[in-house]
Amino acid sequence: MNYKILRILPEFETNTYLVWDEKTSEAIIIDPAFPAPALINELKNLKLKYVVNTHGHGDHIGGNEFVLQNFKVPLCIHKNDAEMLSNPYLNLSNSFGIDIISPKADILLKDGDKIIIGNEVIKVIHTPGHTSGGICLHTDNLLFSGDTLFCESIGRTG
Ligand SMILES: [Zn+2]
Repeated sequence: MNYKILRILPEFETNTYLVWDEKTSEAIIIDPAFPAPALINELKNLKLKYVVNTHGHGDHIGGNEFVLQNFKVPLCIHKNDAEMLSNPYLNLSNSFGIDIISPKADILLKDGDKIIIGNEVIKVIHTPGHTSGGICLHTDNLLFSGDTLFCESIGRTG
């Protein structure tokens, strides 16, 4: 398993991750923060399988529509955060003066679900607190924790 951090929304310090299986080049993108062309360029040599949001806040879903316009793949989010995708008040983008409305989820995740890319398994761990449907994604020795953890602290609870 390999991964790369994309800092496409530096104002919010949001981490967007590209995660892929080196043998098959199958990939997921975690939290496309912003409609940045870099997202598409980075995916040129990979086979995107899913877009996965760790939770429904605007700075983690702002690039969903842009990616899905370029790649016909399922959008995945925990079921408790699904409503945030299309509601700028719930996803808090309205309070920043930009109404972010993402396409609806295709797959509603729950604790224990497995996301398969190539020969690799990514496990969904439900970690409510920051949002009701916050998740972490675990594979090998990697944990993609969204806003469950902030640097040197836990995430702000909402
Ligand atoms: Zn958040």
